[in-house]
Amino acid sequence: MSDWKRFLADPVIAYFSMEIGLSADIPTYSGGLGILAGDTIKAAADLQLPMVAVTLASRKGYFHQSIDNQGWQQESPNEWSPEEILELMPVKALISIENRDVKVQAWLKRVKSPTGGEVPVFYLDTDIEGNQEQDRTITDHLYGGDNEYRLKQEIVLGIGGARILAGLGFRIRKYHMNEGHASLLTLELLNRTRRPVEDTWDERNSWDPRKVQQQCVFTTHTPVTAGHDRFPYDLVQRILGDDVPLFLLKELGGKDELNMTMLALNLSRYVNGVAKKHGEVSQALFPGFEIHAITNGIHPFTWASPHMVKLFSRYFPSWGTEPELLVRVDTIPDQEIWEAHAGAKAILFQYVAETTGIQLDPEILTIGFARRVATYKRGNLIFSDIERLLKVGRNKIQLLFAGKAHPHDQPGKEIIHTIIGEIEKLRGQIEVVYLENYDMRLASLLIPGVDLWLNNPIRPLEASGTSGMKAALNGVPNFSVLDGWWIEGHIEGITGWCIGPPPQGNSIDQNHTDEDVRDLYDKLENIILPLYYENRPGWIRVMKNAIGKNAYYFNTQSMMRRYVSEAYFR
Ligand SMILES: *Cc1c(COP(=O)(O)O)cnc(C)c1O
Repeated sequence: MSDWKRFLADPVIAYFSMEIGLSADIPTYSGGLGILAGDTIKAAADLQLPMVAVTLASRKGYFHQSIDNQGWQQESPNEWSPEEILELMPVKALISIENRDVKVQAWLKRVKSPTGGEVPVFYLDTDIEGNQEQDRTITDHLYGGDNEYRLKQEIVLGIGGARILAGLGFRIRKYHMNEGHASLLTLELLNRTRRPVEDTWDERNSWDPRKVQQQCVFTTHTPVTAGHDRFPYDLVQRILGDDVPLFLLKELGGKDELNMTMLALNLSRYVNGVAKKHGEVSQALFPGFEIHAITNGIHPFTWASPHMVKLFSRYFPSWGTEPELLVRVDTIPDQEIWEAHAGAKAILFQYVAETTGIQLDPEILTIGFARRVATYKRGNLIFSDIERLLKVGRNKIQLLFAGKAHPHDQPGKEIIHTIIGEIEKLRGQIEVVYLENYDMRLASLLIPGVDLWLNNPIRPLEASGTSGMKAALNGVPNFSVLDGWWIEGHIEGITGWCIGPPPQGNSIDQNHTDEDVRDLYDKLENIILPLYYENRPGWIRVMKNAIGKNAYYFNTQSMMRRYVSEAYFR
């Protein structure tokens, strides 16, 4: 028998996210946004916060990636069955899409912490008998389909999610929207404020947006307006209907089209970006609003390699739920840090050998680059000058890549194709490997197992970046453009190294690719490679600093304490 009703005891924070990445066997995430959501939930459980999370079931997942022998990405569905591992809730919600009734059900996953904390996560699902065929597939593909499909999903997430929580009997202290995908929930809340007014000339006063604002917290993740979801109003009227009249929707969501970020900004009392710089950039994009910044984190226990888990647990028994203790990393002898890292490297190289047949050399400095493949991340930057790369790195470096491009992102797919093209050119001189199907499982092998973590996005487009925090936790120093979290974590030569100049201003005009490329090669040649090969104690010092000066702070426990004190209890 289910005891889920115990979650109803206290008023909760309701965390809404289009994607949530808790583990690789629930493939309902595409990248950093979803994994942040998963790590947030795990930290909330560690801290025993009263929280509930809502997302979509995405039964066909994001997608499974393979690479064909021409070097092109191929996609196939990555299906999972909630019925096999989750518990179906006894309550359904009814929503209206294109004037049809659509039933929404919810699957419960319990996220438990060793502290005894527990956070329920609800996966919303429209694949229910009685729903029309076309509606049963709404919760199939994460970020699949067209604008119309996306709008339907966002109705399920925002409005369906709010109704399911109400139906189950939750009392909500705050609604936290993780990115604009969930903004339609504000319309559901707005309609709950509706009251009759005597004078029909005064219809606007039937709704009370201020009441909604008091209930909502909004975290924006995208530093460019083009990245924000927008829908034409004729589509909105046809799919969503007009429970909230058009004049009011336009007032709150934008004059010309429904902008989900605008809607969330207008209806949230607390708004934040995901790193200090990203807060500033977002403030410049939306001058009329007050935008704060809470820098992202990672959930340490999830992202430490088994070797590091063992080592940290020996020296700091409660480090998993109290990662601040990592500030004392200097009490661990160098040799033990080095051996734990060598263990993670060996496991990774074994995986590489099994999946690709390539035998990498554990003595060689191995550079990792893995994340969603989007053009702004410049995955192929290190190949800008092959002559120079060979001069600097011949027989001295190995490169490991991984990452998926969105199925509609042709330029992203070309980047993968280019990287794979370099493999042949460099064979015998610099070993380059592209690993297929980057997901949480591969990330947890790859990131701890390389020696140096590379990141070279176009500034200021990396809102935060979290893979670098996972690297730091495992004693893998960052070598990165100063953007996102690295502006806060970087101390040159101490915690890692930067590529190119400090950030200047909030526009992408500050990028000079030539300068970045030159700096990348120069630092590898003159600082990083000599340190790695000729001064091992110096290298281990940087590894320890990554742990003691980055990872002790850039984690979801510290981050959640800030959300609690600055956002949830305001
Ligand atoms: C951490 C993680 C990301 C985020 O990487 P960034 O470099 O911050 O963009 C993306 N995908 C997976 C599988 C991850 O584990």
